[in-house]
Amino acid sequence: MNTMAFGHTKVHGKHGEFALEAKGLVKRFKSGRSYVEVLKGVDFDARHGDLTMVMGPSGSGKSTLIAALSGLLRPEEGRVDALDVDDLWKLSGGRIDKFRLDHCGFIFQGFNLFPSLTALQQVTTVLKFQGLSPDRAKKRAALALEEVGLGHRLHQRPAALSGGEKQRVAIARALAKDPQILFADEPTSALDGENGQVVIRLLRRAATEHGAAVICVTHDPRLEAWADRVIHIEDGKILDDQRRIPDPNAILASH
Ligand code: ADP
Ligand code: MG
Repeated sequence: MNTMAFGHTKVHGKHGEFALEAKGLVKRFKSGRSYVEVLKGVDFDARHGDLTMVMGPSGSGKSTLIAALSGLLRPEEGRVDALDVDDLWKLSGGRIDKFRLDHCGFIFQGFNLFPSLTALQQVTTVLKFQGLSPDRAKKRAALALEEVGLGHRLHQRPAALSGGEKQRVAIARALAKDPQILFADEPTSALDGENGQVVIRLLRRAATEHGAAVICVTHDPRLEAWADRVIHIEDGKILDDQRRIPDPNAILASH
């Protein structure tokens, strides 16, 4: 792993400024003839430069919260103000998609890579989609992959990569477009301690060095050590919300 700064990026917002504020989010799913309320009036915010960790057991509503915050799943009630957009859910579907493409990065437990594309192509594709020329997209993608320590794996397809390497490709793909908001859903849970540590350190750096608002949901309490803020969610409700001093050099023990 090199420790080079994300050279092609700028620092977003001002550390400490709000990137996202949500109020009163309610999400219900139909279950037979009734509804199950999965988010029960959630207020949430996240600031530039913070690694905000949302912790809760399986089924507590973490993935649903990320989906509602990022414009992927419309809540029945509540609003989301994100960057300079007042009430994201008032925009048309196309504008919401554009907002996500332009400003948000996503990292998932299952990596979500295209099986037929090389590491370089996974990242390049997203950048071209954003409007970069093929040449610039390729250069920036290679740089992003070098920054996550995969400079020597540019031409491998997912089948030839380890779990940790796949997640680093997904992180490079998310960071290459220099997102102001980075959503990570259980990013370490398919990884061993060593690879989990590489991943959480990269998320830490995205917040510190880019000024991204990094929102990471997990049921793994060991990740708390890197967080500026820990929010506990249970049964669709926020239980508590605490600021803390992160330890960027914490050790995620193997298990
Ligand atoms: P977490 O990510 O914390 O594990 P989720 O947000 O995925 O929790 O899910 C919270 C609850 O909502 C769970 O009980 C889950 O079964 C339910 N749920 C999630 N998505 C759907 C859906 N599309 N339809 C019905 N129920 C859902
Ligand atoms: Mg989940």
